[in-house]
Amino acid sequence: MSDYDHVEIPEQGEKIDYRDGKLVVPDNPIIPYIEGDGTGKDISPVMRDVLNGAVEKVYGGQREIVWTRIYAGESAEEVYGTVFPAETLEAIRKFRIAIKGPLTTPVGAGFRSLNVALRQQLDLYACVRPVYYLDGLPSPICSPEAVDFVIFRENTEDVYAGIEWEAETSDAEKVRKFVETELGAAGIHEGPVGLGLKPISEFATKRLVRRAIDYALEHDRESVTLVHKGNIMKFTEGAFCNWGYEVAEQEYGDEVITEDQLWDNYDGQAPEGTLVVKDRIADNMLQQILTRTASYDVLALPNLNGDYISDAAGGMIGGLGICPGANFGDGLALFEPTHGSAPKHAGKDKVNPTALILSACEMLDHMGWVEASTAIKEALQETFKEKYVTYDLARQLSDAEKVKSSQFGRRVVENIQV
Ligand code: NAD
Repeated sequence: MSDYDHVEIPEQGEKIDYRDGKLVVPDNPIIPYIEGDGTGKDISPVMRDVLNGAVEKVYGGQREIVWTRIYAGESAEEVYGTVFPAETLEAIRKFRIAIKGPLTTPVGAGFRSLNVALRQQLDLYACVRPVYYLDGLPSPICSPEAVDFVIFRENTEDVYAGIEWEAETSDAEKVRKFVETELGAAGIHEGPVGLGLKPISEFATKRLVRRAIDYALEHDRESVTLVHKGNIMKFTEGAFCNWGYEVAEQEYGDEVITEDQLWDNYDGQAPEGTLVVKDRIADNMLQQILTRTASYDVLALPNLNGDYISDAAGGMIGGLGICPGANFGDGLALFEPTHGSAPKHAGKDKVNPTALILSACEMLDHMGWVEASTAIKEALQETFKEKYVTYDLARQLSDAEKVKSSQFGRRVVENIQV
């Protein structure tokens, strides 16, 4: 018997467990999914078909994903009469790994974005977005093969905390009065003004940077770059940078060196196996990824910088239709593409499902089902080489065959080799 009103738990599946800081994944894990709004409805079924096809081909029936639908956004409104049902959070907490399509931000729902609310309420504090180039994809830069970033975006605070006051409200006037008279702040213009608070904490910064460094060490990456605007916002973005260096210097011993140490002590050549931690100002970073692409590797950023850099980096390797992502907490993970629900393309079986499929590959890697993930990535690569692509890529490639989302997905499954 299910404990849920509208979530059906299939009997043949088992729950993923979390013991001693490690996931324990059965051969038939129950994976909750949120279909998504807008184009989410087009690409989610494609993603599931590709995963089912890959798991079947690669593991020959030994393993199976047992999908269970959970709801948020428009689908939840239809089923529960609310866009953000508590059961959805409960199911993700219980089953530990879930995947979602994009959700449209509802107008007047009491919070700014369902996506942000999910990440905050589940304390999925690290948004991790690998950005790498696949052969055959269009790119506006000369050397897209040099793009190999892993973006760690802080997910719970910064201006995304949603602490702001609308102009001409009594709260905005109270805050203005407090900062002007109690704190002596100057610089707020007379007349209507919207105000906001930008919390950046030592706690959230350090756990994010720790996660980025751990990842970099585990995957033999060369550097972690802290990307901030600390020259202007000294006590928020500047603090992010300082706390980031503190983690590196105080918690990792000789395994990690700073860029200053790299030049002062090692003449610019990092000793074998050593990770370099450096920092860049955010605006400079937007040009650095274009002009010195190969110098960047793992990036750690506050929430807003991470949002901007993710889309900019995505544009370098084929666009948003390609960029996967994941949100991690401790023992919980929610996978989702970087892109949104692109409502103007919805219901047309048209947009690129690759970003969601690659997000699912990240999920398989996280579960330890690396063989299936690798097989899907190779099949995607093959499909791009055949120039059998959705509209977003077809318009940038010569001699490409423009196909629907579902056709693309079927070809990917056909191209899976075992
Ligand atoms: P968007 O990412 O939905 O679309 C921007 C443009 O990117 C589209 O017009 C399209 O040209 C391209 N694009 C997006 N997805 C694509 C795909 N799969 N294949 C090919 N091209 C693709 O951004 P938006 O228009 O700013 O936002 C639309 C809605 O999505 C808003 O309600 C927003 O709040 C929401 N959103 C949700 C998420 C999320 O679910 N995590 C992320 C961003 C935006």
